[in-house]
Amino acid sequence: MQRFNFPVVQPDPALEELRRELQAFLKEEREAGNFRPEPECWMASADPEFSRKMGKRGWIGLTWSSKYGGQDKSALERYIVTEETLRSGAPVGAHWIADRQHAPMLLKHGTEKQKLDILPRIAAGECYFAIGLSEPGAGSDLANVKTKAEKVADGWKINGQKIWSSGAQICHYMVALLRTSPADGRNRHVGLSQIMIDLSLPGVTIKPIVDLSGDAHFNEVYLEDVIVPDDCLLGEEGSGWKQVTGELAMERSGPERFLSSYITLETALWQLSGKMGSDSHARLGKLIASLRTLKGMSWGIANLLKQGVSPDTEAALVKDLGNRLENDLTQQVRAMLNDLPPEDWSPDMRRIMNMGVLRSPPNTLRGGTTEVMRGITARQLGLR
Ligand SMILES: Cc1cc2nc3c(=O)[nH]c(=O)nc-3n(C[C@H](O)[C@H](O)[C@H](O)COP(=O)(O)OP(=O)(O)OC[C@H]3O[C@@H](n4cnc5c(N)ncnc54)[C@H](O)[C@@H]3O)c2cc1C
Repeated sequence: MQRFNFPVVQPDPALEELRRELQAFLKEEREAGNFRPEPECWMASADPEFSRKMGKRGWIGLTWSSKYGGQDKSALERYIVTEETLRSGAPVGAHWIADRQHAPMLLKHGTEKQKLDILPRIAAGECYFAIGLSEPGAGSDLANVKTKAEKVADGWKINGQKIWSSGAQICHYMVALLRTSPADGRNRHVGLSQIMIDLSLPGVTIKPIVDLSGDAHFNEVYLEDVIVPDDCLLGEEGSGWKQVTGELAMERSGPERFLSSYITLETALWQLSGKMGSDSHARLGKLIASLRTLKGMSWGIANLLKQGVSPDTEAALVKDLGNRLENDLTQQVRAMLNDLPPEDWSPDMRRIMNMGVLRSPPNTLRGGTTEVMRGITARQLGLR
């Protein structure tokens, strides 16, 4: 049985300086009315203008080389930026996914021309990416993807459909997992590849899906005879499955897996200041202990990323525990607010609580379901 690895990271004063700078910027932007805080902001709240401001300050692309528009900083600095923007519910949804997983993927597998062209635009907060994994018949069973890329002269012809593609309506590219050759008997992991698709190409149709809250932040993406050039194949043909596993570790390991609802708690604490009953104090104590523990685990994962380790199973565990905490947090805060008569709730509290309740159900689905995360954890523990 293997152990989990969550290294303890000592506090670093230089990182706290970065945190203070961010907090000052976010406070200023909020007070100027440039954004209204929202739960699930990294997924459901996108503002290209805000992303460009973050880009100008050097807060996107922190970990990659200045040759490609980055800041040559570590995963720990990036962690501070993601943590503070989530805590404040800022509209970071436009650039989030490109910064988190597609830029590192391009750095690893892209051509020099793509790196020089696309990475500085991502770092400037001007170029956005969508994740093209799920299909109507392939979610948890991802190896069942049916969308095909067929080799043609100088490129690939793509046909099929992706679904739940977050932000595709404002994205410039999608990185899709596609079948480029048949499976090897029962081994369906063989013959899958990752291809970068320019979403403005002929043959791409994006249709929004409306969620429970009335927002339309994810989409169906139809691909009909879409032709992309050869250099859009990322990594090696047939290595898509292995590459996707690494991508999912980046997708699952960050603080968005336990801080997406945090703004609900912070807003409630302002409201309840001096008016909290003893039950609420107990609820708050429990929430703070859980948040502190998850922060330690997630911070440890950032340290593993800094060391170049791919923490697949640690990420699955943090995602499972974090999603459970997030849904619980919204319910606990709702109960704590019983200490106040409803007419005393501020309009902001009402808006944030409504969003928190309506946006929390997908937490345990997106990025891999709870059952799938537990399957990965069980394998690590030698139980399956
Ligand atoms: C808000 C949101 C945003 C998303 N964004 C994206 C995106 O940008 N790009 C993208 O590609 N996808 C995205 N997804 C899709 C997401 O990854 C899938 O919804 C998820 O992987 C589950 O797949 P499914 O919906 O097909 O459910 P299914 O896989 O059909 O699962 C249905 C149920 O069966 C259970 N189940 C399935 N297999 C097993 C098993 N082996 N053992 C035990 N239980 C099992 C699941 O846990 C679940 O409860 C998003 C989803 C949501 C909700």
